[in-house]
Amino acid sequence: MTDAAETPSKVDLLNLTRSGLEAFVTDGLRLPRFRADQLWHWVWQRGVRDFAAMTNLSREFKATLARRAMLPWPEVDVVRTSRDGTIKLLLRLADGERIETVLIPMGEHYTQCLSTQVGCAMACTFCSTGELGFTRNMSMGEILGQVLVGRAHLAEKGLPTVRNLVFMGMGEPLMNLTELLRSLETLGSAEGISIASRRATVSSVGIPQGLKILGDSGLAVPAISLHAPTQELREKLMPKAARVPLDELLACLDRYPIKPRERVTYEYILLGGVNDSIAHAKQLVKLLGQRRCKVNLIGYNPPPADAGATAPYRAPEQDDVLAFEAYLRSKRITTFIRRSMGQDIAAACGQLKLLAGPPGQEGVTAGN
Ligand code: SF4
Repeated sequence: MTDAAETPSKVDLLNLTRSGLEAFVTDGLRLPRFRADQLWHWVWQRGVRDFAAMTNLSREFKATLARRAMLPWPEVDVVRTSRDGTIKLLLRLADGERIETVLIPMGEHYTQCLSTQVGCAMACTFCSTGELGFTRNMSMGEILGQVLVGRAHLAEKGLPTVRNLVFMGMGEPLMNLTELLRSLETLGSAEGISIASRRATVSSVGIPQGLKILGDSGLAVPAISLHAPTQELREKLMPKAARVPLDELLACLDRYPIKPRERVTYEYILLGGVNDSIAHAKQLVKLLGQRRCKVNLIGYNPPPADAGATAPYRAPEQDDVLAFEAYLRSKRITTFIRRSMGQDIAAACGQLKLLAGPPGQEGVTAGN
């Protein structure tokens, strides 16, 4: 893994892991290690982006940092707030690319949905991000920069902070594995953002090689975007993801090292008239009935009419959603219906999509 993300003159401190920052301070600047500890605390725990405001650093150290380093937070282009309190931030990265992050109120705290790629190569047929195609991977600094911006926004509004993270925004996290692992490692480090790995969920269509490495790292438990109970239907809904045969994917997940009380989560988006019948529920029970798992059901959200897109599917009927849930539960599969948040601002699952246009123009993204 490379740790330095240097512009010709300045080091991007957001893209350094803890050990990378220590090396920069002790080897690069020839300063004692405690200076790195102080800097880490200001950058990640206090969320300060101006070196001059880091009050316990010496004047010389602050001047050196201003010359040699930078903290390139993503800039907020657009903020939209839903009637249900969900907040969507359209962010501009240093090279002008744009991504989205969503802050979802969950009682006394917020859950933040993070993007890991600009666009996505997986082209799932129900997902607005899939239509964008893939532009590039995001760096650790850009991924975690979303948390800094999200926390600052909530603090400014006097709202509770972020406690849980879901890597479920734009992109397939396991296709950006190096930066994902660096992000997860940095998240949990003391005096930093300090979000424990059990509070971070990585949502993936399921890439066996990536799952093996994520499992060995012990850094997060995955939520698998299953969305179909058979290989045949999955090929239609998620043609690229389905290149990994379903039985191979499930065998890989059976080997995933989870703790005794943990379970693998399967996400299942209910598409009206496509995969939401009791016959599909029966097929799903056949697939998952003997596995240690839980199922999250998500009603498909067609893009809002003003997004200018034609919806490829329709939302499921509420009765069908309830019947699907009841059937799984009757077969002793732990099942939840995920409440759809931020639907009116196109921040709900599957609705996120960046619209082309200059900064400041309205736009949106989607996720696993
Ligand atoms: S659902 Fe996830 S993996 Fe599929 S296209 Fe959308 S962002 Fe990519």
